Amino acid sequence: MIQELGKRPYAIVQLRQDDKQASLYNMVGFQTNLKFKEQKRIFSKIPGLEQAEFVKYGVMHRNTYINSSKLLDNTYNLKNTPNLYFAGQITGVEGYVESISSGMVAALNASDVFWDGVKKHQFSEHTVIGALAKYISTPNEKFQPMNANFGILPELEGKKIKDKKMRYEKLAKRSLGQNIANMREIC
Ligand SMILES: Cc1cc2nc3c(=O)[nH]c(=O)nc-3n(C[C@H](O)[C@H](O)[C@H](O)COP(=O)(O)OP(=O)(O)OC[C@H]3O[C@@H](n4cnc5c(N)ncnc54)[C@H](O)[C@@H]3O)c2cc1C
Repeated sequence: MIQELGKRPYAIVQLRQDDKQASLYNMVGFQTNLKFKEQKRIFSKIPGLEQAEFVKYGVMHRNTYINSSKLLDNTYNLKNTPNLYFAGQITGVEGYVESISSGMVAALNASDVFWDGVKKHQFSEHTVIGALAKYISTPNEKFQPMNANFGILPELEGKKIKDKKMRYEKLAKRSLGQNIANMREIC
């Protein structure tokens, strides 16, 4: 389609059928700050949507999360209630894999405590899983949700590597090296 038109699109609107009769379509992931009236004006220009009736407009999504930087430790465990763990975006991680990682850390440690009485899966801060856990559990007056990214890892030792690709490769290697013992235990 893009090739047929011969030009690069500014944006792509994905419509997902939302009812059996195919009368209702969802504009997938439509996050925008445009006012509703403006959305109607602009989206009605899309070929095929000239006559569409809009039942719901796009809004920016807002995460609801607890103040983990005060409440949780780096196993997503509520500090003042040791038998309670949190996982997912409610802890201040953002994204699919991030939420999964928090669930994994919380579940592994909850089962450690259940079976052995001690937590055994505190991931190194040199791994993204550990760095995220550290980020959400470190005091922070301006606590905001965080994605997995290289910026939350401690800097590499030694001279700064300017080349991004090389730097990221080194960070990834360091991470794999550091957590090998932890991974063996999980497997
Ligand atoms: C429009 C949009 C686009 C996104 N795109 C991406 C993307 O491209 N990539 C990415 O990585 N992340 C994306 N995200 C973020 C991602 O969806 C979330 O970070 C992730 O789904 C969080 O997972 P979760 O399990 O913590 O929470 P959720 O997926 O929100 O699951 C929480 C569940 O709990 C249920 N629940 C709530 N209250 C109660 C209750 N009282 N009792 C019982 N159940 C309850 C809810 O119904 C829901 O099913 C997007 C989010 C939005 C809103």
